[in-house]
Amino acid sequence: MSDVQLRLENVSAGYGRTTVLRDVDLEVHTGSVVALLGSNGAGKTTLLRVASGLLRPDAGRVLVGEAEVTRVAPNARARAGVCLIPEGRGVFRGMSVRENLLLQIPPWEKDKSFDLALETFPALKDRLGELAGRLSGGQQQMLALSRAFLAKPSLVMLDEVSMGLAPVVVDQIFESLHTLASSGTALLVVEQYVERALQMSDHVYLLNHGQVAFSGRPSELDEDEVIRGYLGHELNTPDVSSAS
Ligand code: ATP
Repeated sequence: MSDVQLRLENVSAGYGRTTVLRDVDLEVHTGSVVALLGSNGAGKTTLLRVASGLLRPDAGRVLVGEAEVTRVAPNARARAGVCLIPEGRGVFRGMSVRENLLLQIPPWEKDKSFDLALETFPALKDRLGELAGRLSGGQQQMLALSRAFLAKPSLVMLDEVSMGLAPVVVDQIFESLHTLASSGTALLVVEQYVERALQMSDHVYLLNHGQVAFSGRPSELDEDEVIRGYLGHELNTPDVSSAS
């Protein structure tokens, strides 16, 4: 098996005539945790969209393991072990929690149990019959994150999963990410809680205007200069005024 779970080689991508990513090289090694940092609009979500197959790059290659998947559709990439938890709680609000969980189990999985998700997020246990749209913001995010446990992926990409959540819920979310990482699942993490993301990461990439401005170990990052310079905010103070 390849040591590299995900590789982007010289990737350029954008929307219409707007180029967002320029010549991006990025690797996520098997079982490792990689943080992807950058200011608003730097291209982090665009990179995750390219990696998951939602956006086709204008140039460059995407590999999952040793297989090139540049032109492979998102559902086939999911089958190859790639799971994206998108920004903004990807749940079906008009369906029950139980139905959402069942949908997250891939069709090729014989075991249709969602117990692992309930073990990780016990708060969902008593809400199985409830419409997902009636859950709190934190519970909806837990429901969205359940996919990472039920689809048995080898790589999970997380786009700001703690966004707008109360600190106590953020703690639970990070605990679940630690559980996932310690089970050997590789993680590519876009996160507003930069310090917490760096603490759990083996490697960090910093994007600036769609280009890789830094790639290295978190300990090599000059937090004071680089992070404040590029991110424009303090390390651990995202806006939680609208937390739910
Ligand atoms: P944020 O932290 O704000 O989510 P980001 O680093 O994830 O930022 P992207 O969402 O990848 O950045 O956006 C990069 C650039 O691409 C921005 O200038 C954004 O306005 C633009 N962009 C994003 N999505 C689209 C789209 N669907 N069509 C056109 N432009 C887009």
